[in-house]
Amino acid sequence: MKVCPHCGNEFRYNVVVDRRTKFKYLRSGCCDVALRSCPDPEMLMRSAHLSEDERDYLKRLIPLPWFGGQIVAVLLQLEAKVQQASKEVVA
Ligand SMILES: [Zn+2]
Repeated sequence: MKVCPHCGNEFRYNVVVDRRTKFKYLRSGCCDVALRSCPDPEMLMRSAHLSEDERDYLKRLIPLPWFGGQIVAVLLQLEAKVQQASKEVVA
C-alpha cells in the first residue's frame, strides 16, 4: 500500500470538483489535504506522445463530471508519460 506523507494512513486520491468553475482538484482521500489540480484529459489528448487507444480513453473522460480513483491513476500515468516524452524531445 502507498502511505500518505501527511497522515501516515493508506493513501488514495480523491477528486473534488469546484462547483463554480467545474475545475477538478486532487485531494488525499485519507486526510483531505489539497494536493494539486487533476490532470486534464482534454490537455493530455493534444499530446502527440500518446497512442490512439490512450487518446480514445481520454476522449471518453472529457464529458464526465467526476473521476474515480482508478481514472485518476490512469490520468497521472499518462501525464507522466507525456512529460517524459516531451523531455526526451527537448534533450
Ligand atoms: Zn493522509
